[in-house]
Amino acid sequence: MLIFRQLFDLQSSTYTYLLADSASREAVLIDPVFEHVQRDSALIRELELTLLYTLETHVHADHVTGASALKEILASRIALSETSGAEGADRYLADRDRVEFGDRYLEVRATPGHTSGCITYVLDDESRAFTGDCLLIRGCGRTDFQEGDPRALYRSVHGRVFSLPGACLILPAHDYRGLTASSVEEEKRFNPRLGGALSEDDFVGFVSNLGLAHPRQMDIAVPANKKCGRPAAPAAADGADGAAWGPVYMTFAGVPEIEPHWVEEHLAEIAVLDVREDEEFTGPLGHIPGALHIPLGKLAGAVEEVPRDRPVVAVCRAGGRSARATAILGQAGLERIANLAGGMLRWRDQGLLVEGGER
Ligand code: FE
Repeated sequence: MLIFRQLFDLQSSTYTYLLADSASREAVLIDPVFEHVQRDSALIRELELTLLYTLETHVHADHVTGASALKEILASRIALSETSGAEGADRYLADRDRVEFGDRYLEVRATPGHTSGCITYVLDDESRAFTGDCLLIRGCGRTDFQEGDPRALYRSVHGRVFSLPGACLILPAHDYRGLTASSVEEEKRFNPRLGGALSEDDFVGFVSNLGLAHPRQMDIAVPANKKCGRPAAPAAADGADGAAWGPVYMTFAGVPEIEPHWVEEHLAEIAVLDVREDEEFTGPLGHIPGALHIPLGKLAGAVEEVPRDRPVVAVCRAGGRSARATAILGQAGLERIANLAGGMLRWRDQGLLVEGGER
């Protein structure tokens, strides 16, 4: 079975696509965004996938790729078009190459025009095409920079994308109106630049008169992407990953979490904050030795009781209310905070130190 997720970057309106084979758990990620590498790696970890490749549809001008950062975190390989002009990839793709993941594969189709190195990835059963900026939903990528060529783009769309089955889904690199997918049939009929009876000359006339502004990120993004996003800047900043005080990781839900074993071994150096109700704290599950007890409903009004000289790990029964507690502590300005993964239930399952409660 195919595992499929469409992820979004609000800043640049970029879609990132995760595809995986459910049996082997092997995955590929198309067009990752640098600012979301923690989000994307959290999802890949939670779905228990192995990321084989990050794939670029082209050298982007509006965001920096997450390819190099993901390679560092997940040991994935970087692949993009051999005509992209980018250096530092592990694999350079040519027309008709296949990128395999488990029993599935993506076929590479050269679709130049927006840039000279643009490629479209077509899923093995031709049910989905990841068209990058070649074909967008009722639109297409601009052709006025990065070796753009309107005639090449028209021919790419008509020769290499519209030749796919009508039901094949079009999944573009961007949509600025929040539209998520289209189909070959739909775009053939309704694309206002490339569909219907519009000719190559009609298309050239259209895109020569767009009068678009220079993309804001271009002067940063293009040079960085020509090196596969190898950062001149520090590591990605959308997560608490790599927190200096302990092995905190960000979940896909955006909660900083930490594993029970580490917490037990470092109880002397941290503060444990138990946010359960009174009867739970003294109830059958017991509590972690030395835990400070403030029920969640009272936490916002009692934040000054929480120590700031040590990292704080919040705990509840199963890890839900304590996740909310970490958000409250964060809003109160505490920086070294984490949620105890799995709460008291997992803590007890792992046979860790408990005070009170039933054995
Ligand atoms: Fe682009």
